[in-house]
Amino acid sequence: MDTSDTNKIKELLSTAKNIVITTHKNPDGDAIGSSLALSHYLNSIGHSATVITPNDYPEFLKWIPGESSIVKYDSSVKTANIMIDNADLIFTLDFNHLSRSGDLETILEKAKSTFIMIDHHQQPDTYAKYMYSDTGMSSTCQMVYHFIEKLNDLDKITPEIATCIYVGIMTDTGSFRFRSTTSTTHKVIADLIDHGADNTQIHEKIYDTNTLSRIQLKGIALNNLKVLPEYKTAYITISQKELDQNSFKKGDTEGFVNIGLSIEGIKFALIFIENKGDAIIKISLRSKGDFSVNDFSRNHFEGGGHHNAAGGRSYLSLNDTVEKFISILPSYKNALNQ
Ligand code: 5GP
Ligand code: MN
Repeated sequence: MDTSDTNKIKELLSTAKNIVITTHKNPDGDAIGSSLALSHYLNSIGHSATVITPNDYPEFLKWIPGESSIVKYDSSVKTANIMIDNADLIFTLDFNHLSRSGDLETILEKAKSTFIMIDHHQQPDTYAKYMYSDTGMSSTCQMVYHFIEKLNDLDKITPEIATCIYVGIMTDTGSFRFRSTTSTTHKVIADLIDHGADNTQIHEKIYDTNTLSRIQLKGIALNNLKVLPEYKTAYITISQKELDQNSFKKGDTEGFVNIGLSIEGIKFALIFIENKGDAIIKISLRSKGDFSVNDFSRNHFEGGGHHNAAGGRSYLSLNDTVEKFISILPSYKNALNQ
């Protein structure tokens, strides 16, 4: 987004607008945090902004300021359609392609509103009139901070906005440890604390609210962990039956993929989770260093994301998916052993 785009956006926002903010399916901390932060900011400067998510999100996000006002498309189709029809502006946050918005895709494709994208995923699509895309950014939340900064409104950051932005930077950086965490990220975090984000409380609310069944499911994941030393790879499988036996709720498997990556010498970690409802195997991929899981997932599992963190899917059975994965690995032996 260059200065001319910033000026055009300033002009657009100089009169009251109906605004819809939407994000990707199965929203995570960055998706919810960035959408709510932006909605608080836009409402505070005189607009009428609403967040619409394609579907529900984990319990551990259901305390973020403004969360109760979110419209979930899958349970409020009519309301959401009217809002999208009436929107002057639609912000799409934390995704790079309309197909990432699940059942919202068709209605967003038809919408006549002006689109503004704020996103940090690789290979962004070009559906938006204004694109603020930066794949080097830690999170879309950090970008919302810089967006407010570009509009010279940092003094309008309230404790609520600071809290929302803090959540997404924290979750997308693995608590400020991934490569995307820069000195600027830390400066932004410092400013958010100065604006009223209670860092200790936010960490506790996101990470220390496990249920016993979730910890037990983690035990299953640990038990199912397989290591392939010759490929510096580790993977976990979880079947639908294992999920059902442990009262699985959305978000319960969040972070499990990192268990494999924490083993010494492992560069590539995956988790394959059976989802009978959607008739897919959901795959999460993580890597360390030069190995691109964005490329790997794009090439083999209809997904993508970032260099070191991506998602994907398979329509085969859980066993066949793992077999396919293992049959592909030899062609990456060199890349994984560099
Ligand atoms: P996760 O493994 O946590 O679901 O996703 C890791 C990262 O990859 C996130 O930034 C997420 O937005 C992105 N991602 C997950 N699934 C997909 C997918 O199917 N396609 C694309 N392009 N990105 C994905
Ligand atoms: Mn993100």
